[in-house]
Amino acid sequence: MVHELKSFVRGDFHAGDGARADLVNPSTEEVLATASTEGIDMGAAIAFARETGGAELAKTTFADRGAMLKALSKSIIAHRDELLDLAMKNGGNTRSDGKFDVDGASGTLEYYADLGAELGATNVMIDGEGAPVGRSARLFGQHAFVPRGGVAVHVNAFNFPAWGLAEKAACAILAGMPVVSKPATSTAIVAHRMTEIFVAEKILPPGVFSFLAGGAGDLLDKLGGQDVLAFTGSHATGKKLRTGAAVLERGTRVNVEADSLNAAVLGPDVEEGSDTESLFFTDVTRDMTQKTGQKCTAIRRVYVPRARLEAVVAELEGRLAKVKVGDTAHEDVTMGPVSTAQQHKDVKAGIEKLAGCSTIAFDGGAGGKQPLGQKDGKGFFLFPVLLVCESPRPGDAVHTHEVFGPVATVMPYDSPEELVRLVGAGGGGLVSSVYSDDKAFLKKAVLGIAAFHGRVTIGSAKVAGQAIPPGTVMPQLLHGGPGRAGAGEELGGRRGVGLYMQRVALQGDKALLDLLLGSPAR
Ligand code: NAP
Repeated sequence: MVHELKSFVRGDFHAGDGARADLVNPSTEEVLATASTEGIDMGAAIAFARETGGAELAKTTFADRGAMLKALSKSIIAHRDELLDLAMKNGGNTRSDGKFDVDGASGTLEYYADLGAELGATNVMIDGEGAPVGRSARLFGQHAFVPRGGVAVHVNAFNFPAWGLAEKAACAILAGMPVVSKPATSTAIVAHRMTEIFVAEKILPPGVFSFLAGGAGDLLDKLGGQDVLAFTGSHATGKKLRTGAAVLERGTRVNVEADSLNAAVLGPDVEEGSDTESLFFTDVTRDMTQKTGQKCTAIRRVYVPRARLEAVVAELEGRLAKVKVGDTAHEDVTMGPVSTAQQHKDVKAGIEKLAGCSTIAFDGGAGGKQPLGQKDGKGFFLFPVLLVCESPRPGDAVHTHEVFGPVATVMPYDSPEELVRLVGAGGGGLVSSVYSDDKAFLKKAVLGIAAFHGRVTIGSAKVAGQAIPPGTVMPQLLHGGPGRAGAGEELGGRRGVGLYMQRVALQGDKALLDLLLGSPAR
């Protein structure tokens, strides 16, 4: 039966009118649900969140809000199997992909719940060291973060309906801001179900969490100077949002997480058969195929020493050939379809674009291979594709065009300086990884590419057994990146909470500042 998704605004569920978007199972193209926000009064939704939710949160402390996040996390864990099932149906996820999203959501909420307990029974977060500003130590200055008086609007991408909702909501609610969350319409079923669970379990006070099932309508026109707009999605939509009147004219704070051409680098010292090499191959293969390559942090570019190019391509081909593409209801399948018909079209066009400067070394679908469990030619299936670009140059499609699917390009480099230039030519990314045990090379490569990234992971022999893949976003570390990646910053422990608070410099008698801040200014 087709399910009608409803928005949760002004303390209740409301169905939209008019034309409804279909949400499908990307393995079968069966319509699972419909959604529309037409007729939803966005101004009233925002006002209710800002006023009712804001007033409720103003009565609470970090510790209280941490307890709310803990309860949200537990409610997701309690409904984990149901949510995984929905992720498989609506997202084309394998069960393992679904866990990455759903467990990522509960884990991130739990991390911020613990941070709330640590920040304690206060509403103010001290920011760094204070300093005397006058002739005596008495006249003092201290930076602090205080709650903003607005609403946090979250516009998310299609690929992480659970984690995307949770990672943004965790930081905003902990900061003391009510949230209006809008997932991408095409894969909104998981986020919608999470909302139903949160509401049924009465975890949050009225107005603290609202949810939109469908398009944003004129939502963003309703935002003002105390509000925050946090967006994850394509570069093109990000550009529209940050050039809207709310941001340009009324100073709505905006954070954009967009495209990223994440790189993996194999160091010249890495020997065949070593733990470091094995980590590199495992990470590249996983990040190309997990969630069918639809991860903002997936590896798109692979740089290897020129002498290793052929051997690396051969090993990756062998590993990619083992990937079993098909309907994720089929238990042997290790990679599902991409999530939407549009994605399917875009990835195919993207491969053609990359082929303008590269050659296709491996196509998992060559020879008319059929996806497992595919019926009547339905489904948005794609096989992994590995390209090789022998003479990479800044400005090539491989350095400018993100293909959001199971696709990567391997390229040679001849020196650390050339490597840094090529990685930097990606225009700014979320995360890149460098695999090496050579300290001199690591210093040049890691510090050379660091300015182009929000995060750089180093894969070396000593951590190979416990390394966390670059594609896994950690709540304690920053997520975001300069340039093409949107110039945003999320997560990173307290830093992510700071996005939803106002940093203010307080200046005056140190004894008074200590009293106001509830702890000694440092
Ligand atoms: P998208 O088409 O830009 O959509 C993202 C979100 O923006 C959706 O919720 C969409 O709503 C909404 N939206 C679209 N037009 C809008 C408008 N004019 N006003 C307000 N909201 C609007 O991106 P996507 O296809 O979902 O996601 C894929 C992209 O996201 C990739 O390029 C990927 O790199 C990027 N991404 C980045 C990160 C990161 O953390 N940096 C994470 C994941 C994905 P509807 O669905 O209702 O249209």
